[in-house]
Order: sequence, then C-alpha cells, then structure tokens
Amino acid sequence: MAGVRLVGLTKRFGTMVAVDNLSVEFPDAQVTCLLGPSGCGKTTLLRMIAGLEQPTAGQIFFDRDEVAEWSSSRRNVGMVFQSPVVYPGLTVFDNVALPLRGTLPGPELRKRVGDVLELVELQAVAQRKVDTLGNAERQKVSVARAVARRPRVLLFDEPVTNIAAGERITLKRAFKRLTTEVHLTLVYVTHDQTEAMTLADHIAVMQDGRLVQYGPPRAVYRAPRDRFVGWFLGNPGMNFVQTRAGIEDGAALFAGVQGAADLALVGFRPEYVAVSPVPEPGYVPARVVRAPITVGGQRLLTLQAGETTFKAKTHYRQAYTAGQTVYVNLPADQLRWFDPAGAALLRGTPGRRGTGPDGE
Ligand code: ATP
Repeated sequence: MAGVRLVGLTKRFGTMVAVDNLSVEFPDAQVTCLLGPSGCGKTTLLRMIAGLEQPTAGQIFFDRDEVAEWSSSRRNVGMVFQSPVVYPGLTVFDNVALPLRGTLPGPELRKRVGDVLELVELQAVAQRKVDTLGNAERQKVSVARAVARRPRVLLFDEPVTNIAAGERITLKRAFKRLTTEVHLTLVYVTHDQTEAMTLADHIAVMQDGRLVQYGPPRAVYRAPRDRFVGWFLGNPGMNFVQTRAGIEDGAALFAGVQGAADLALVGFRPEYVAVSPVPEPGYVPARVVRAPITVGGQRLLTLQAGETTFKAKTHYRQAYTAGQTVYVNLPADQLRWFDPAGAALLRGTPGRRGTGPDGE
C-alpha cells in the first residue's frame, strides 16, 4: 500500500472554504481516523484523496506519485461509503470476486476472496445471495470487495453510521480484526470517537476545514493542543476553569484559589477527578449539583466546589444523590494549562513548572 501526503490542500465551494490549506502525512500501512464536528471538512478531504472532488489548490501524493490530476480509477483507491454497495442477485463470494475476474487465475482468485471473507467473518455465508443478508453483513461485503482488490489506499466514509445500533458491534469487530491482521493504509472518517480511539494508529482532529491536531489517539486525548480538542474529545470533554496561575494541585483549584490578577485557564478530564463520599486527607468538599447519570458504565457527576462547577466520573457502584456533600481531589499532573486564547501552554503553568503537551 502507499503512504498519503497532503500539501497545502484546499477546497472552496464558492466563497465557502471546506478544507483550508491542510498539510499532513498519513503513514503507509497505518489507520488514520479523521475526527471532527459536522461540517468541518472530513468528507471533502476524503473525496479529494479518492479523486471524487478536485482540489482548489494543493498537492496529494501516494508515496512519491503526485496524484491530484489522476482519475479516481488510476489512483487505485478502495472506498467504503455510509451505506453498503452490493450487487443484488449475486452471492457474497461473487460480489467480492467481481472486480478481480479476468485479473487473477481461478485458484488465486478463490484463495484471495476466501482469505478476505474469512477475515471479515463472512466465510459461512459465502454462497448466500447478498439480498438475504442484513445491513451490517452487506457492509462487510463492501469492505471485503475493497480490501480484496488490494488498492494503494483504503478510504472509509462513516461506514457504520447507517447500520442499526445493534448490528454495529459485529462490524466494528470485523474492522478491528482486519486492521490488526492486515496492514492497511486506511483513512477512516468517523463521528464516533470510541471507534477512532480503538481502531486508529493516529487521529487527525479537524475544525473549520483545518487540521488542529494529529497524533496517536491516547497522546492527543491526554495532551490536547487547544481548548477545542480538549472539549471535543471525551464524553464529556475536558472541564475548563479560570483560576489563579501557579496553583499547586486540584485541591487548591477546588478550594477556589482565585485572584483577579494573573488568571489562567486550566483543563482537566472528568475521569481523573478523585471523588470520595467521606473526608480524605488532601481532599476538599464539593456538592453534587444534580442527580448523577450513567455514561459508558460510569457515574457522571456534576459537582460544585466554591465557585467552580465541573464534571467528574466515578465508579457506577457508588451511589450519589443531588445535594450530597462529597470530597474531591485531582493530581497535579492531570492539570493542563492553556493561554487565554485557548492554546495549550507548552511548558507547564504560567509562572511555575508543570506538565504540558510536550510532557507526554
Ligand atoms: P459531516 O460529518 O456532517 O459529514 P464533514 O466534516 O464531512 O461533515 P463536509 O461534508 O466535508 O464536512 O463539508 C464541509 C463543508 O463544505 C460544509 O459546510 C458543507 O456544507 C460544504 N460542502 C460540502 N460539499 C459541498 C458542495 N458540493 N457544495 C457546496 N458546499 C459543500
């Protein structure tokens, strides 16, 4: 497969800038997820890589080949869309084999198709007509056909979005197996950050047509480059509090150490807040503002300490009620500092040593 390099890639629709001077390299044989809010330009970017949309400016390279002027078929990309694309009336096997007919001798073709069907767990239904399958299995057929052709680059545009929630898990499991066992250059557009976190070697977070951060998922999650990335990643995203620059730790933050001068913006993730129903050394009291809700098997609390309102995630077994007093702390190394414009500070807190994105 090939690595993909984008240089100054721009797409305008009239006066609307959908992709804005974007440069990045998606490495060969790795999975990159494009993440970002609706309308940020993910699909437009993918369609330019596919050759379905002509860039207004910039270059696209597959390894050393500059492909921006190449037709979609010459680029040799495999695409999977939101809805499955299958040939009705044909079997699963024939759907996958169709683009290979005439290009491979029979035994090789059968082996190639059989191997891919095995990877996506469709071998048991290889001789069934696609018309008899559910949507998730049809989407697996689309994926198998794209993979079996051995394209230079695979492009997936939200492939689980139109699949019923109950069927998504089998599809996601198939993607995980596929990307673990075959080293694919895959660029994958998704709204679903959990999907991105589990599948991707790298994530590219976009906002307003620009690339705001690119890196391994955990690193981007732990050290967002700016306030937007901190807020966008996570369920819910980071808490942000204006506080006095130079506070020591979370207890000082929650104790409401504030000052009119020298204010700084600090961010912290809800799951790193330590919450106890009873007093603990170094913890400060906080009030449960509203009835907790359960998110992904954890209890999400909205808490208030002094003038600071923030979210915390705790173990689902621990019950809390609105109005209850709890005790909270937060390790100093979980505080992320941002400048007033929302950009992460590279070296610790304003005015003292601490951790920042380069401290990963
Ligand atoms: P979503 O997650 O909702 O699919 P996205 O991040 O993929 O969004 P795009 O579909 O790439 O975003 O759209 C980026 C911007 O470009 C949007 O404002 C969209 O309205 C605009 N846009 C996309 N295609 C066209 C088009 N053919 N003509 C005019 N504007 C377009």
